[in-house]
Amino acid sequence: MFDVAIVGAGAAGYFAAINIKLIAPDAKIVILEKTTKTLSKVEVSGGGRCNVTHNEIDPTKLSENYPRGGKFLKSLFRKFGVAETIQWFKEHNVELKTEDDGRMFPASNTSETIVHLFESLAQKVGIEVWTKTGVVEISLENNEKHTLHLSDNESIESKFVVLASGGLNKHDSANYLKNFDIQFEKSVPSLFTFNIRNSELNALSGISVKNGKVKIVGLKKSYSGPILVTHWGLSGPAVLKTSSWFASELNEKGYHFDTLISWIDYSTEEEGYQELTEILLESPKKQMNNLYLFDLPQRLWLFILAESKIDETKKCIDLKKAEINKLLENLIRMPFTVIGKTTFKEEFVTAGGISLKDIDENEMNLKKYPTIYVAGEMLNIDGVTGGFNFQSAWTTAWFAANSIASKL
Ligand SMILES: Cc1cc2nc3c(=O)[nH]c(=O)nc-3n(C[C@H](O)[C@H](O)[C@H](O)COP(=O)(O)OP(=O)(O)OC[C@H]3O[C@@H](n4cnc5c(N)ncnc54)[C@H](O)[C@@H]3O)c2cc1C
Repeated sequence: MFDVAIVGAGAAGYFAAINIKLIAPDAKIVILEKTTKTLSKVEVSGGGRCNVTHNEIDPTKLSENYPRGGKFLKSLFRKFGVAETIQWFKEHNVELKTEDDGRMFPASNTSETIVHLFESLAQKVGIEVWTKTGVVEISLENNEKHTLHLSDNESIESKFVVLASGGLNKHDSANYLKNFDIQFEKSVPSLFTFNIRNSELNALSGISVKNGKVKIVGLKKSYSGPILVTHWGLSGPAVLKTSSWFASELNEKGYHFDTLISWIDYSTEEEGYQELTEILLESPKKQMNNLYLFDLPQRLWLFILAESKIDETKKCIDLKKAEINKLLENLIRMPFTVIGKTTFKEEFVTAGGISLKDIDENEMNLKKYPTIYVAGEMLNIDGVTGGFNFQSAWTTAWFAANSIASKL
């Protein structure tokens, strides 16, 4: 009989197993992985560099990066947040470095460092890792002994179980839990880019603006940040943030919706209008195509002029009020119709999963089945890009590990 059986050899599964062993060295632990490979997402994450966390130490500010689960995580981050994560890796000889945008990577700049750390630690502390071993069913007797039925028709028994099998992105991902009364929030993709069929826009592929804004028509909030034009539509942090915060709403719309793009940073429309007219007045004799405006790339500027039906050879002084209005409109609210989504290859997650209402947040176990714990993306928790998804895996796994270790 195992003390702990962990379903899934990903970030959360390994982090939970190792931390249990660090506190309870005699614990008999097995990690069960259905594929041939362990830690596969860690390896490919962050473009092969593994964006381990984000340099946001403040628990409140950190929790604001989670469209689902932020409130739940806030108190957990007070005990095991970014500072503790950095320290944990440091204690295991992995230094993290911070990039300008706050993302933190191993100083070695390769995810291999994290994979190697987890695999060597697991081996050192004596954790069993069984690959090609899917869990197909779990049954529980008297709230104390779990039987895990495995894909090779074998079964094992354990006192505690940690569910760390990742995002529920397939219809049968959670079938192995059919014997339990667990609430699931609908799983939908998060962190995707927008497909837009507009040959003039698509021709600008590669162009980006630093301070754009994305608004979905009919939805209240808009999200700011860099926007990147791709050959299939729009991407970049502002688009990904929007896809994350509105993951459910956009799923309901079947990924067909209208969006309004601001290419510039402005606080009020009046301010934008004033700034635009000032620029035009400053160089009255200049042709529109020679203007250098709001740091916009020249090709994008010409596109905006064309969309506004303004002759690019026209002089600033000759612009009519209606043309200035149209120009401003296209600078701050250019409409596009989105006709689908593309998965963001650097980092994508599943929104939805095991409802947080079912989880005891001090322990990370199921309220109805206290010997069953949950960690990582399987929970209805997901963050925007930047290392936040791994951070929630570390934090939830750490809480599960501490609770289990205290009961062994
Ligand atoms: C390409 C890509 C890049 C990413 N980059 C980043 C990044 O840089 N920073 C960041 O914060 N986040 C990133 N993410 C998100 C992050 O990888 C995940 O949020 C995180 O890996 C979740 O960890 P997890 O352990 O919960 O799940 P997973 O890593 O998905 O691990 C779950 C494991 O369980 C196994 N499993 C599933 N069902 C069973 C079963 N029934 N029996 C046995 N095993 C099972 C799966 O095969 C898998 O190995 C990225 C995601 C992707 C796809």
